[in-house]
Amino acid sequence: MSKNAIITGGTRGLGEAMTLKLGEMGYNVAINYTSERSAALADALVKRLADEYCVKAVAIKADVSDYASCENLVKSALEFFGGELDVLINNAGITNNCNFIDITPEAYMRVINTNLVSMLHMSHLCLPHLVDHDSCIVNTASVGGLVGVVNQADYCAAKSGVIGLTRALAMEFAPRKVRVNAIAPGMIMTDMLRGVNQDELNALAATIPQGYIGAPSDIAGCMEYILTAPYLTGQTISPNGGFVMP
Ligand code: NAP
Repeated sequence: MSKNAIITGGTRGLGEAMTLKLGEMGYNVAINYTSERSAALADALVKRLADEYCVKAVAIKADVSDYASCENLVKSALEFFGGELDVLINNAGITNNCNFIDITPEAYMRVINTNLVSMLHMSHLCLPHLVDHDSCIVNTASVGGLVGVVNQADYCAAKSGVIGLTRALAMEFAPRKVRVNAIAPGMIMTDMLRGVNQDELNALAATIPQGYIGAPSDIAGCMEYILTAPYLTGQTISPNGGFVMP
């Protein structure tokens, strides 16, 4: 029987690699998009998933920081899947990079709502459909949820919250056969890092014991491990080249 997954932020970066990995693993996939630009990326991914992996995929417009929008995403995905859901990947996220004196409340609340509150919304809406059959939630946290980072107070607060949410839901839903885990990536080359110039990238790489910035495939591989590890729940796995060793 085929299995079904919803992934947020599945159009670009880590999410794109995880979307393709889900297809490779045989999952039907629902992907959200927010803008016209990402609508085109989502459509291309839907086609690629069908052509390369023969799975069903759908792109649905949704801003995951908004509960009503999440409701529509989950409802549309469930209709597409015929009512069955096995996996939720909460991956959408943004950064600000602003010192904490100058940041506005609007800017830090946008990060909290997009990176943390979205995961409450999506988990709340999906869990009724995930319980009582072997299912999984995977949340994208960050090394910023494990250590402090300058100019990232909102981001670190949100990502620490993601790790707390992961543990609490894992505890509450283990008896109902839902495993909940988080991935806390270190520095990975995506649009989030593309604004950084080469000298700064070299300096960043020099701070990583393994000496290089990771690739989205490193995170997709970690997600694959989590989805196929039946005795793993409540854990945060951090592929980070040794940058943080909690
Ligand atoms: P990215 O390339 O900028 O992609 C971000 C994704 O999130 C996009 O698909 C975007 O969709 C989606 N998104 C943003 N705001 C959204 C909203 N309000 N509603 C729905 N979707 C939204 O970033 P990335 O580097 O792949 O990051 C993915 C996740 O990994 C994030 O949670 C990030 O915090 C985490 N992370 C990244 C790194 C890194 O070094 N790259 C390290 C640690 C953790 P649209 O294209 O539609 O806007």
